[in-house]
Amino acid sequence: MKYINIAIDGPAGAGKSSISKIVSKRLGFIYIDTGAMYRSVALFAIENGIDIKNETPKLISVLDSINIDMKYENDKQIILLNGRDVSDDIRKAEVSIGASDVAVIKEVRLKLVELQRKLASNNNVVMDGRDIGTYVLPDAQIKIYLTASVEDRAKRRYDEMVQKGMECDIEKVKLDIMYRDKNDSEREFAPLRKADDATVIDTSGNEFEESVELLYNFIKERL
Ligand code: C5P
Repeated sequence: MKYINIAIDGPAGAGKSSISKIVSKRLGFIYIDTGAMYRSVALFAIENGIDIKNETPKLISVLDSINIDMKYENDKQIILLNGRDVSDDIRKAEVSIGASDVAVIKEVRLKLVELQRKLASNNNVVMDGRDIGTYVLPDAQIKIYLTASVEDRAKRRYDEMVQKGMECDIEKVKLDIMYRDKNDSEREFAPLRKADDATVIDTSGNEFEESVELLYNFIKERL
C-alpha cells in the first residue's frame, strides 16, 4: 500500500467526524466522511419521493443516476450530489434516519464502498464510518473504534444541532441514535462492529479537545 490509511469506526454521535476532521488536518491527510455519502443517497431518495424501506427495488434501479463527489474548499469538505452542494441538507434529522435505512441495502453499500476504496488508494486518508476497518479498508495501518455512552452521544449531537440553529428535542435525538445503532449493528451486510485489530477509544465524559489530543497522539505514536 503506497498511502497511509487510517480507519475510524464507531456508533452515531461518538464524535468521529468532528475529531477526524481536525486530526486529519493536523496530519496533512485527507478526511473522508463516508456517512455523508449514505446521507446523500438518502437525500436523493427523499427528494425524489422514493420510500426507502418500501420501495427498495426502485431505489436500486436509479442508483446509477446518483453521482456523489467530494471537494475541499478552504479546508471545508463539500459534498456534491449530482453536482449540487448538499453539505447542509444532509445533516437534517430525517436524512440521518434515511441514511441508516439506505445503509442496509447491499447495492448501495457496494456502490459507495467502491468510491471509498478508490479515494483511499490514491491519498493518505483518515476515513470514518461504520465498516471501514472491517470491510472497506481491512488493510488500514491504523484502526480505531471510537465510542461513548449513548447519553453522551445524544447530548453532543443535540448541542451540535442547537448550535446550527436546528430545532430538536434531546429525547428524540437519543431515540434516533438508538434506532441507528440498532440498524447499523444488526444489518446483515458489513454491520457496525469493532475490527479485531482495532483499538477502542471511549470518549465518555471527555471534553472535545481532550478527545482530539487522545486520537492525535495515539495515531502519531503509530505512524
Ligand atoms: O456517520 P453518520 O452518522 O453521518 O452516518 C449516517 C448513517 O450512514 C449511519 O447511521 C449509518 O447507518 C450509515 N453509515 C454506514 N456505513 C458507513 C458510514 C455511515 O452504514 N461507513
